[in-house]
Amino acid sequence: MPTPKKRTTRSKRDMRRSHDFAVPKTSVNCPNCSALKLPHNVCTSCGYYKGEEVVVAKST
Ligand SMILES: [Zn+2]
Repeated sequence: MPTPKKRTTRSKRDMRRSHDFAVPKTSVNCPNCSALKLPHNVCTSCGYYKGEEVVVAKST
């Protein structure tokens, strides 16, 4: 394995890591059934999107 010639500085290491952190997933409450769902997505529990049932819900 080749070895780096110089140690990476704290600054350069941290600059590289500035893009590495995960962002928390956002979720909104469904206006129809108030279950937690992903924004701009069909609700997984009632199958509604923009006030209309677009897919038939899986269960309940
Ligand atoms: Zn819903």
